[in-house]
Amino acid sequence: MTLVVHTISEARQQVVLPRRSGGTIGLVPTMGALHAGHARLIEAARAESDFVVVSIFVNPLQFGPGEDFSRYPRTMTSDLEVCTNQGADLVFAPPMEALYPTDQLTFVDVTRISDRLCGQFRPGHFRGVATVVSKLLNVLQPDRAYFGEKDYQQLAAIRRMVSDLNMPVFIAGVPTVREPDGLAISSRNRYLDNSQRQVATTLYRGLLYAQELIRTGEKHSALVRERAMEYLRQEPGIRVEYFDIVDADEIQPITGIISSPVRIAGAIWVGNTRLIDNLPA
Ligand code: AMP
Repeated sequence: MTLVVHTISEARQQVVLPRRSGGTIGLVPTMGALHAGHARLIEAARAESDFVVVSIFVNPLQFGPGEDFSRYPRTMTSDLEVCTNQGADLVFAPPMEALYPTDQLTFVDVTRISDRLCGQFRPGHFRGVATVVSKLLNVLQPDRAYFGEKDYQQLAAIRRMVSDLNMPVFIAGVPTVREPDGLAISSRNRYLDNSQRQVATTLYRGLLYAQELIRTGEKHSALVRERAMEYLRQEPGIRVEYFDIVDADEIQPITGIISSPVRIAGAIWVGNTRLIDNLPA
């Protein structure tokens, strides 16, 4: 069984020995409700680090008013099984008061990268993410921290934060783990009923379609976007929140010709469930 600690001092204590004996520490920050995507992150950390820490914390700071903070799935028992099966050494599962004992007056804002895509529709979200990730990095001081490409904008923001603030940690990106039909695995997929689950793959198919257009020579960003939107609009069971082609580093929309690596990213609503996904091109 993986050891579980709840306080910052216990967590720090647990990494003292592995670090003192020259080992590398890998951190996998999560909000729990662990699934095959998280398992892949832990697997990558396990392969590349001597001591693997998984943090489990549903961070209120990254949820907006009216978002799903209170109904976000909390599944600690099965989460611990996943961590044990993947060979994690330590689970850090702080209660709210451990990470936010007093009003948080200090925040990390990764400007520009946070402005578009999800940032436009979830104001303050990336500020909440960057702030809690900074705290976790400061608590555990890992050598490497693992993030999924599933949340590509988040990965880009964290990479830039670490670079801009000279944080001594390597940020490793892990490719998106998908269901057999292509749906990106997400803790929020469990909100979907059977018929919603059927249409949820539309976003991935739209992304594939856009990727194929670009790969077969279509260079006009607006045209690719319009054709993909047309495709998505054919499915009445979803509502598109955004679908954009952005540069891979700073997540800024490509307005003219696609000439360097881009990311195609989208967000849709299926009933009351918001799903995001992205692909490279
Ligand atoms: P979350 O618990 O949703 O905050 O996710 C924790 C980490 O797991 C983040 O770095 C996510 O990008 C990553 N992640 C979530 N779903 C997947 C997936 N399907 N494939 C790869 N990584 C994922």
